[in-house]
Amino acid sequence: MTQSSMFFTEPEPPRAQCIQVAEGIQRIVANNPGKMTYHGTNTYIVDTSEGRFIIDPGPVEDSLHLEAIIDSLGPNPAGILVTHHHSDHFGAAPILRERTGLPVYVSQAFPDDAFQPDAFLEDGEVIAGLTVLHTPGHASDHLCFARPDRVLFTGDHIMSWNSSIVSPPDGNMHDYCAQLKRLIERDDKICLPGHGPILPHPQPYAKKLLANRMRREAEILAHLADTPDTVKNTAALVYKKSDPHIAMAAERNVAAHLEKLLSESRVTQDGNIWKVT
Ligand SMILES: [Zn+2]
Repeated sequence: MTQSSMFFTEPEPPRAQCIQVAEGIQRIVANNPGKMTYHGTNTYIVDTSEGRFIIDPGPVEDSLHLEAIIDSLGPNPAGILVTHHHSDHFGAAPILRERTGLPVYVSQAFPDDAFQPDAFLEDGEVIAGLTVLHTPGHASDHLCFARPDRVLFTGDHIMSWNSSIVSPPDGNMHDYCAQLKRLIERDDKICLPGHGPILPHPQPYAKKLLANRMRREAEILAHLADTPDTVKNTAALVYKKSDPHIAMAAERNVAAHLEKLLSESRVTQDGNIWKVT
């Protein structure tokens, strides 16, 4: 199987419009399409026993998206949950709070001191029936939210349309792989990612994601065993991406693998040249 064939695609979704994706869960796709965001960021509107929650308000630039979220709040809105601090997920949280008075919940590891959240969330905590999983890797503060009926909101930890970028220093490949293993061992029925359509059968999918990472790592090691080299050259050889945006993402992923391998004493760094120990 080629790497791309495991991923899921979908036609461009409607904008500023709620679509029901599961019982008590609606999705609105922000209008921020891109090479890292697919059609845009998914905002989820989730009904819980304690009222309606927003997961990831999306980017601040899309005012129609913001209005659609506000229109969807219903009579009992309860709060705003944030999977991680990246602006395509968290960006509209401050203005949504300002407009609605709803509390904003972020990870205890949320790195932006300029923003004062209403509450911090930690691993294992339950909020309105949703269990918080701290899943660092894509971002140090990344959270997933698990509903008891085995629906898991995965943000950018696991996406259906593509693999995630892991960009050091905030991104960490050791953590990312550990948190993939954690999801493989869970029994979630579907994942609702931060970008792309619903992901069915998440365990075999996450296993393939992990296998792809391990294959990349083996290729990086094989290349460096042959030729001590830079991140840039190694990424060009291993990922073979011609698109400059994707090539940059590939370099970040290679840098993340090398940080992981360095922490495992399997490579050393001399200036910008990496070699196998
Ligand atoms: Zn994202």
